[in-house]
Formats: sequence, C-alpha cells, structure tokens
Amino acid sequence: MAVTHYELIILGAGPAGLTAGLYAARARMNHLLIEKGAEGGQILLTDWVDNYPGFPDGISGFDLAEKMAAQAKRFDLNSMFGNVTSMDLTQKQKRLELDDGSVKTCDTLIICTGARPRPLGIPGEKELTGKGVSYCATCDAPFYRNMHVAVVGGGNTAVQEASHLTKFADKVTLIHRRDELRATKILQEKAFANPKLEFIWDSTATKIDGTDGVEAIHLLEKSGKESVLKVDGVFVLIGVVPNNTMLPLDLLKADAGGFIPTDIETRTTVAGVMAAGDIRSKEVRQVINAAGEGATAVLAAEHYLNNLS
Ligand code: NAP
Repeated sequence: MAVTHYELIILGAGPAGLTAGLYAARARMNHLLIEKGAEGGQILLTDWVDNYPGFPDGISGFDLAEKMAAQAKRFDLNSMFGNVTSMDLTQKQKRLELDDGSVKTCDTLIICTGARPRPLGIPGEKELTGKGVSYCATCDAPFYRNMHVAVVGGGNTAVQEASHLTKFADKVTLIHRRDELRATKILQEKAFANPKLEFIWDSTATKIDGTDGVEAIHLLEKSGKESVLKVDGVFVLIGVVPNNTMLPLDLLKADAGGFIPTDIETRTTVAGVMAAGDIRSKEVRQVINAAGEGATAVLAAEHYLNNLS
C-alpha cells in the first residue's frame, strides 16, 4: 500500500486537535488530521460548557464541538477517520500505521489523543455498563426520569453532571470519598442549593448490584461502616485515564499515569513531536487550555519545520 507523507499529522480531533487543525489549515501546511471516533472528544460527553470565552450564555458541548470542526473545515482542514495502531518516532520521518494497513509518514506530529473516563474497577461495574452504569450524564440522563441515581466523584465533572441529572431524576445522591469537593466553588454553590441533590461523604463504592439493570450500590464509610443504597443508575465520574495505547510511552517518557510530558511550547522529548490537550501531563484539563495548546503545538511544528535541514 502506498505511503503518504505530510509535513504535519495531528492525531485526535478533540478541542486540542481541532484547534491544531484550524491553525495548520490556515498556515497552508501539508497536513492531515486523523480521528478515530467522533469529532469533539470529551466535550461531546459534557452537557453544557459555561466557561469557554465568546459564548456569554454558555453552549452545549455538542454544539461547541460542531462549531470548532466547522471553523477548521472553512479553511480546508484535511481530515480522515482512522485508527492508528502503532508508530515509529525514532527516525526524523515519523511513521504511523493504521488498522486498515495503510502507512502515513510525517515530519512533525501533534498528539491530541485525549483521555477517557476512569472506571471504578469494582464488581458489577463492567457487567452493568450500558445497563444502568454510565460514564456520560449528558448521553444517558434522560433515561432516568423520575428515578433515583447515584453519582460517584467529587470533581467538576461529577458535580456539574449531578446537577444536570436533577433535571430528569427525582433524586441524585453524590457519593464522594472525602468530606470536601474538589469541584470549583461556583459549581459547589449551585449543587448545595439544589433540593434534589444529596451528598454522602467519606464513602467509597465497593460493589454494584443488578442483573438486567442497576438495583443498588454498596458503600464503605471511612469509619468502616458498610451500607447499601438502592438506586436505578450509577454515574461514574471520577476523572480520566489517557488514550495512549498507540504511543511509544518509554520514548516519550510518559509520567506514572501514562500522560505525556512536554515543555511550555508543547514539545515532547522527541524532536518534531508535540502533545496538546488532555494527553499532556498537567494539572488543569479545561477546553480552553486544550485549544490553546493545540495552537501552540502548530506554531512549534512550524518552527521545527523552518529549521529542518
Ligand atoms: P478530577 O478533577 O480528577 O476529579 C476526580 C474526582 O473523582 C475527585 O473528586 C476524586 O477524589 C474522585 N476519585 C478519583 N478516583 C476515585 C476513585 N477510585 N474512587 C472514588 N473517587 C475517586 O476529574 P474530573 O472531575 O473528571 O475533571 C477532569 C478535568 O476536567 C479536570 O481538570 C476538571 O477541572 C476538568 N473539567 C472542568 C469542568 C469545568 O470547568 N466546568 C467541567 C468538567 C471537567 P479526590 O477529590 O479525593 O481526589
């Protein structure tokens, strides 16, 4: 099969990848953006985005993804759907293999493969996924009209999506392993004022019961006390794990969590390879900084290409 070469390949079409695509297309670079699933990445799992500048009334995650893709396409973004299974980044010309057997090579690569929801790893979770266990309130909330659901987690995602769930469910119980939420204060204030939202503190989930659907969640308090809460659904919203299976983690010196370290210009330890968005090793994972990193990465790629001998 023919090998196609590009100046720049962008891997992943979340906010980081789509912004990188916008910048690459406008710079008239010989580029290709490869996406495995749907354009938009994790914002597709977000009901409402209230903190992306330029949208004074907020915008749905779906609409924001669509607008980002449309903006890049206005400048002739060159994109394809494909699944990169392995890559060789040891040579000046980087080589990517796709599951259809095709090979793409490039001078520069921007890794924007993002992250996905972290599972709890408890009995019942896997078996009941799609049957009452969910990782996406935006997708599944309407199934729980007039029901009682549990949300596990204490970060921005858990608190924001628990509030969203109260639009449908009669009662939402948020279960957090500490006595203090990690979520930003404005989300906490909204959640504490919501009469349909209850909190169980200092507790971890140990098991989910059910056969055709979720029936109950087992909890273990810090004190050692065990209890069982009857619920119709469990939303697991406890952070993210990196999408890194196709990456050479040793070469990229991935951190302990499998995320990719970069310098402030998004350059990884491999010359000509940048990483942007949630796959980067960092503290803050917001749409706004993913987009900013996507732009920075293209400028770093251009700089690298201009100095390529
Ligand atoms: P996160 O900020 O990493 O929070 C994860 C939460 O889950 C924490 O409260 C953590 O508890 C808990 N947790 C982790 N592992 C657990 C386990 N095994 N069992 C029980 N609880 C566990 O993740 P996130 O809320 O998904 O957010 C991810 C990133 O997206 C963050 O950077 C966040 O700021 C960003 N985000 C922003 C917005 C927004 O700005 N509106 C919305 C959504 C997400 P501890 O607190 O005890 O560690």
